[in-house]
Formats: sequence, structure tokens, C-alpha cells
Amino acid sequence: MPPPTKPAPVEITRAGDRDVQIRWNDGRTVVYPARFLRMACPCDHCVDEMTGRRVLQESSVPLDVHPLAIEPVGRYAISLRFSDGHSTGIFTWEWLSHLAAELGQPASAVTTPNNPH
Ligand SMILES: [Zn+2]
Repeated sequence: MPPPTKPAPVEITRAGDRDVQIRWNDGRTVVYPARFLRMACPCDHCVDEMTGRRVLQESSVPLDVHPLAIEPVGRYAISLRFSDGHSTGIFTWEWLSHLAAELGQPASAVTTPNNPH
């Protein structure tokens, strides 16, 4: 039996002025709104490492926040440098694939099943 295919992006591009679009190897094309990505940042400034609870307050994130730079991290993730100066979040393929299922829900409801750190 071949191992199950792990989700991996085929192409990462910008969508519109601010958003990020990922075409996945399973055929999905997902547009991630810029602020949604900022709110979903999995780094230990935004998520309590011990409890996995999100500590980032939605009210503290500028409405027009957006990624200034998208940088590859190895072959497993991207790092996003946001316009509010935040750049410590590493978005793994696994996390981004999980987030695709959360799109359309309030960002505050995004669950953090495991912290990649
Ligand atoms: Zn963060």
C-alpha cells in the first residue's frame, strides 16, 4: 500500500490585493483571506503553548492587516511577514490544510489541535 498523500501546495500565489491562494495537490484551490491568516497564526505569541488556547485578541489585529512577504520554510511550510510587524508564525502545510476547513467560520473559532512548536 502506498502511504496516503500528504497535503502539499502545488502553487502559492496572491489572490486580490491581500489574500493568499493555495492550489493543493488534491485539486483544491483555497483562498485564505489575509486577516484570517493573521488570526490563525500558530506561533507562541498568538497561542498559549501550554494550553493551546488562542491568546491573540481579534480586536488587536488591524482590519487591513495583510502579508507583506511570503517566504518558504524548508519544504514543509511558509512564513508570513504581516503588515502589523508580526513575522514569527510558521504555517505548515498541515496547518494550512486544516485551516481550509475552518474558512467561513469566525476566526476566533479556529481550533488549534496541536501547536507545531
Ligand atoms: Zn503569531
